[in-house]
Amino acid sequence: MNIESERLIRFSFFFMGLILFSFLELFFQYRNRTLSRRSRWPANFVMILIGGIVVKLLLPSGLVFFSEIASRRGIGLFNLFQINFASELVISIILLDLLIYFQHVLTHKINFLWQFHRVHHADTDLDATSALRFHPLEIVGSVIYKAFWIMLFGFSYEAILIFEIILNFMAMFNHSNITLPSKLEKVLRVLFVTPQMHIIHHSIEKYESDRNYGFNLSLWDRIFKTYKSRFESEGIIGQAYYRGQKEHQLWELLKLPWTKV
Ligand SMILES: [Zn+2]
Repeated sequence: MNIESERLIRFSFFFMGLILFSFLELFFQYRNRTLSRRSRWPANFVMILIGGIVVKLLLPSGLVFFSEIASRRGIGLFNLFQINFASELVISIILLDLLIYFQHVLTHKINFLWQFHRVHHADTDLDATSALRFHPLEIVGSVIYKAFWIMLFGFSYEAILIFEIILNFMAMFNHSNITLPSKLEKVLRVLFVTPQMHIIHHSIEKYESDRNYGFNLSLWDRIFKTYKSRFESEGIIGQAYYRGQKEHQLWELLKLPWTKV
């Protein structure tokens, strides 16, 4: 598959997710918004756009660039030990999800990384746009982190592409402001991260934002004891500083990692 069709597929999933979850929010809204979408969306969309442009400039062929190097040079575990394609794909996707869970924990525990990650956490409401609202330098850090693991494990082109699409789509799902029927939600969260589970991670209270780090499988939070089933606090989300408009102003968000709060 060439890079342009790959980009088109990824963009289509992003666009479908955005429309689907924003549309569902009209009928199954979970929480009242603190601000209108008009106040939040311009900065969120421009941040998403800047992130996309930075990655494209830095790495025109995307993360698969590293997968191709690993495969050509025969490095990485999956290139050294051949197993069948389907098993490799499933193991790779589960492993990538675990690595993303750890990356997320690190962005909270290492202060330098948190300075960037708090841009994502400063949003005072959650919806599908919050899922991709990251500081461009955090996105660069994320690319470097993933590149390291791709070289180490030799993940295939297909595994990376499928995982990135799933991650993108699931992040939009679990950040969306939709409520699911409670029985369905209970069944879903046995395996997957639901919006009602992830929103606890966006609590203004640290004892709650240090929980529910997962993006796809809820398994990791259960295994590593970071799972929290419901809010104990009042459920205010965002960060304690900047309450008002600043967390939705582009320039404020771009300089937030260097802003004393
Ligand atoms: Zn976080």
